[in-house]
Amino acid sequence: MAIQSVGIVGAGQMGNGIAHVFALAGYDVLMTDVSTEAMEKAMSLIDRNLERQLRGDKITQSEKDQAFGRIKTTPTLTDLGQCDLIIEAATEKEAIKHKIFEELLPHLKPETILTSNTSSISITRLASRTDRPHRFMGFHFMNPVPVMQLVELIRGIATDQETYQTLLQVVEQIGKTSATAEDFPAFIVNRILIPMINEAVYTLYEGVGSVKSIDQSMKLGANWPMGPLELGDFIGLDTCLAIMNVLHDGLADTKYRPCPLLVKYVEAGWLGRKSGRGFYDYSGETPVPTR
Ligand code: NAD
Repeated sequence: MAIQSVGIVGAGQMGNGIAHVFALAGYDVLMTDVSTEAMEKAMSLIDRNLERQLRGDKITQSEKDQAFGRIKTTPTLTDLGQCDLIIEAATEKEAIKHKIFEELLPHLKPETILTSNTSSISITRLASRTDRPHRFMGFHFMNPVPVMQLVELIRGIATDQETYQTLLQVVEQIGKTSATAEDFPAFIVNRILIPMINEAVYTLYEGVGSVKSIDQSMKLGANWPMGPLELGDFIGLDTCLAIMNVLHDGLADTKYRPCPLLVKYVEAGWLGRKSGRGFYDYSGETPVPTR
């Protein structure tokens, strides 16, 4: 099936990046959000990010103008009904996602493919509440979308081969690389990465090393571009904890138990960069380790 138009639900951190890469690849993009402010912010961010690519000689002025011109926004979700592909990138709450699909369904063409960018919700469960579980997939982009090369394609138990093949081609068209995952908790990247970050927090909790020595060990000893605690702060410690809980609940294995120190930091509101403090204090010019 040929995809030409893409509807994006949610104009937040992920939605604006997804709109950016699809528009640059030549797709018509229609983006919606419950917040008009979020849509306005998304458009100005896309403009700035395209401008940065222009200044870095990655795209030409006309590519920038054409891409920007291909993105439209609407406050009305059902306007997305005529799109060939829907990418849901709204807030990570299952009830919100169910409601979005429920509202959209009566307005969709029969062949439209539905996808969700969810990091942790079961694709099979989201799909089962729609009229087209065979045309439903997980389409998991990494943050920041214009920069990160990988896209995880997650097959629900009912996803058909045609839908999967179509999305493989779409990923190629937007110049990214896909990794295919079956629908189990946290898919591939987060299944491996987040327990590693959790283990780094245990290493800190048990006093094996300080924040500095743990991060330095993984940067210089394992060639990680960022230390695991620094990375946890970047992702958001609340997000890391939520993913550990999904793994713990979904796989029922004690090896996924969230570190009590991670829980304590989240309880304190020390969520990492976004709250100004996590394993580092971000109030000054350079981040200072807190333990
Ligand atoms: P965000 O909070 O930045 O943006 C979510 C947007 O959804 C907000 O602008 C909000 O107003 C909007 N929204 C809420 N309810 C809506 C509705 N009913 N209709 C339309 N819009 C609605 O969140 P985000 O980080 O962009 O995450 C979005 C999705 O992407 C989540 O499912 C998340 O798990 C997933 N994801 C996030 C990351 C990441 O690093 N942030 C990475 C991969 C996947």
